[in-house]
Amino acid sequence: MKNTPTAHVRFAFNRWLKGALTVVLLAGASLSAALEVRFEPVTDGVFAYVGDMGPRTLANEGLNANIGLVVTTQGAVLIDSGATWESARQIHEAVRRVTTQPVRWVINTGGQDHRWLGNGYFKAQGAEILAHASAEADMRSRGNDHLETLRAALGPRASGTTPTLPTRWLTQPDQQLELGGVVFEFKYRGGAHTPGDMLVWLPQKKLLFSGDVVYVDRMLGVIPVSQTKAWLATFAEMERLAPTRIVPGHGRVTDLATAQADTRDYLRALRAHMKKAVDDGVDLSSAIKTFDASLYLRLLNAAELNPGNASRTYLELERE
Ligand SMILES: [Zn+2]
Repeated sequence: MKNTPTAHVRFAFNRWLKGALTVVLLAGASLSAALEVRFEPVTDGVFAYVGDMGPRTLANEGLNANIGLVVTTQGAVLIDSGATWESARQIHEAVRRVTTQPVRWVINTGGQDHRWLGNGYFKAQGAEILAHASAEADMRSRGNDHLETLRAALGPRASGTTPTLPTRWLTQPDQQLELGGVVFEFKYRGGAHTPGDMLVWLPQKKLLFSGDVVYVDRMLGVIPVSQTKAWLATFAEMERLAPTRIVPGHGRVTDLATAQADTRDYLRALRAHMKKAVDDGVDLSSAIKTFDASLYLRLLNAAELNPGNASRTYLELERE
């Protein structure tokens, strides 16, 4: 190009445009950097990301849950894939900061959005995705609704996400697989928070990924698809395994005693109260009002979640 005055002006304009674009891109980048996925070491080769304990927001990109990671010599195993394509991508970046191993396997511990809506991203990376077969109907029926809710909360940050089913279904109540030389045991006892919830047990490390079977620090949620009876049966299986460390579905990495106090005891108290109410012919609203939740109001989100939990447990007991 000849160095004519016009070309010179054009060059200056292009340089200005490039500068302006850089400013816009940086602004965009700082907006997207709100979610910081960072894996903390739990034990040899095992890591956990402890997510936000409040509701789904733009700041946490819908990822208000924990994610687990096991690094083997033949690849990385991710426990749960995140809430969206974008949050899955950020989980992947966090994995890369911990290991150079590719994510070869993804396990979905249940059918709640943040457990599996990142599957599309990891499937595109070539990962094999495993879940219990009992999660399938739940994923199919609620996946699109979840996505709509996330779109409303996240806007364009939810784009690229499509409900993508696992590539391999586990069909047994007890199943063992060796992934990259590490033994994984999967325990299914009828579901918990969602119908497909299962435990992921690493016997060699005495470590358990509980998915939404264990909530600590914050109050658990009994939702319409939850089964509190099966939830306690799943919990009992975990007690039998006697893990030394638990990566819960929500809350800080924990031990069995804390899981019992924050999850099991609350579920037991709810069920005992509601069973008596149903047996005595007490109506729903009186049963909710007379439930003493004072021991559990220390848990985050308790005031918002307890009334709904009480109501749905009553309805479940009525059906039993
Ligand atoms: Zn959850």
